[in-house]
Amino acid sequence: MVNQHQTIPFLDLHKINGRYQEVFKSCFSNFLDSGRYINGSSLQEFERAFASFCGADYCIGTGNGLDALTLILRGYMELGEINPGDEVIVAANTFIATILSIKYAGLKPVLVEPDEKTFNLDVQQIEKHITDTTKVILPTHLYGQLAQIKEINEIAKKKNLLVISDAAQAHGAKINNDHLAGNLCDATSFSFYPTKNLGALGDAGAVTTNNKKLADIVKSIGNYGSPKKYRNDYLGVNSRLDELQAGFLLEKLKDLEDDNRFRRKIAKRYLSEIKNTKIRLPFWDGLENHVFHLFVIRVANRSEFCEYLDEVGIGYLIHYPIPPHHQKALIEFSDLSLPITEKIHKEVVSIPINITLENPQIDYIISKLNQY
Ligand SMILES: *Cc1c(COP(=O)(O)O)cnc(C)c1O
Repeated sequence: MVNQHQTIPFLDLHKINGRYQEVFKSCFSNFLDSGRYINGSSLQEFERAFASFCGADYCIGTGNGLDALTLILRGYMELGEINPGDEVIVAANTFIATILSIKYAGLKPVLVEPDEKTFNLDVQQIEKHITDTTKVILPTHLYGQLAQIKEINEIAKKKNLLVISDAAQAHGAKINNDHLAGNLCDATSFSFYPTKNLGALGDAGAVTTNNKKLADIVKSIGNYGSPKKYRNDYLGVNSRLDELQAGFLLEKLKDLEDDNRFRRKIAKRYLSEIKNTKIRLPFWDGLENHVFHLFVIRVANRSEFCEYLDEVGIGYLIHYPIPPHHQKALIEFSDLSLPITEKIHKEVVSIPINITLENPQIDYIISKLNQY
């Protein structure tokens, strides 16, 4: 039984990482003893392990997910494949970081509506936004579900564009065992922010690609533009994946497949057992292309629904309450009319889905949602 007065937390990071208490302590102890605190053997090992997990040739650790995306874009610019001011097609309902990376690289974000069914970039809308200066299609695999990458790659091939994806929420999402987020397009960014499916105990991120030139340049730009000690070829930044975090991530990577499977199991229960005409459930075709970073439902009267969740003690978050083009920081897009994006932002609510949920809690969530 779930105690009525005890809230089911949206996410309990302490409990999630509690599973690793002993092994993390020994990680730290080895790290301390190593005397090498940046770019050590754990980072190398993690980069190898994560590349192999994704089926990609290269993985480069970065300071966070935002930097991973920015470094990919800057890398392609240094390689001469993208020029300053070129356009990048991006989903209008993505997390703001995706759009910021385009701005920081000196490129122009072109916001395109998502497909209401999947929340991902609507492939039918892409071609009409392609101009002479479009160079990149940048889909986010939002909430953990792969974007329609096959169709996007086809458009890109026809129009000679790059495809770069933001997989910050989709570690391990796959079409099959050979085709995973991380090897589905030209380059992919990941975030290991603590709440992600593969989360560190601080900030961390990575780039994966099969392109050696891009991998080398991303590595250099993230390390002061230095391909070799004391030689600086690019105006680089300091964005490295921390050695200690790499050690933690190596341990957690071992459980990622199981964790994703567990999330899908909860999703399957929600999708078959939540039956309430006031609640619109997310679309999922039941395959492994979704790792349910978030389980996002839609309700017409969100504030009333959230009050109800507060009353019955179910944690929730909203991803996201304000669309990027309505943010003050992105005032340049404020005149855009993006009705689907705007409607989604008014209606979405994320309910708990993570590896610490126990059956009585899942039962409780389902029954309370059915009673709403
Ligand atoms: C978390 C996230 C990012 C940013 O990652 P950070 O590590 O916080 O920089 C980018 N895009 C999406 C879709 C995210 O969810």
